[in-house]
Amino acid sequence: MTDPRHGLPDSAPGVLLAARDLHKAYGPTLALAGADFSIRAGEVVAVMGPSGSGKSTLLHCLAGIVTPDSGSISYQGRELATMNDVGRSRLRRHDFGFVFQFGQLVPELTCVQNVALPLRLNGAGRKGAEERALAWMRRLEVDDLARRRPGEVSGGQGQRVAVARSLVTGPRVLFADEPTGALDSHNGERVMQLLTEAARSTDAAVVLVTHEPRVAAYADRQLVVLDGTSRAVEQAV
Ligand code: ADP
Repeated sequence: MTDPRHGLPDSAPGVLLAARDLHKAYGPTLALAGADFSIRAGEVVAVMGPSGSGKSTLLHCLAGIVTPDSGSISYQGRELATMNDVGRSRLRRHDFGFVFQFGQLVPELTCVQNVALPLRLNGAGRKGAEERALAWMRRLEVDDLARRRPGEVSGGQGQRVAVARSLVTGPRVLFADEPTGALDSHNGERVMQLLTEAARSTDAAVVLVTHEPRVAAYADRQLVVLDGTSRAVEQAV
């Protein structure tokens, strides 16, 4: 059966990540009140809605960073709640990639060292990690900035470096929270173009939080979080 709230049958082939009836309160503030979400491998879904409607909370729950008060989240058919902290942390390091509004690059490292960092943290040697990092920087068209530090590149360039870093480990799901929120429209469009192309080329799914219709237009589907009660409602793009 298809649940009209998220549009995909629970058993739909290729459903990679699915959340059902999520609730999350911060004191008296109800951030999520029955949000549902599903994403297939390789799909790009935009989570839209006004500021404070619960978009980031939904993303953080899906990524196993925040634990919902009730409801369930499964990744590849496995409930996140049944995993321990080590399991969830492994998932975040190996299967998930993250891009935030401000690239959050390490200022003391060069751009190529930043991109190579997730591989190094997973135990890869420096040379191999930096070669793979450079290949990703080439795809995001920032390889010429490899030896610069984040303070020496523009906002748009820094976000492209951050996208390269998020994809270097070959994640199955890329979580992007307002990835163009700090950029002008030209740079924002370029980042979205390169981000979606790169994700599609590796069949990574993308959960894209944005309040900008222009950015959401890059997605295959949109999910709208509404009314401060954060009920997720799907609508066709
Ligand atoms: P959005 O991403 O749509 O702007 P959020 O998910 O950030 O919305 O926030 C939803 C609601 O939950 C807001 O009212 C916000 O103030 C509140 N909230 C989010 N995170 C916290 C937190 N860590 N502590 C207290 N309130 C929070």
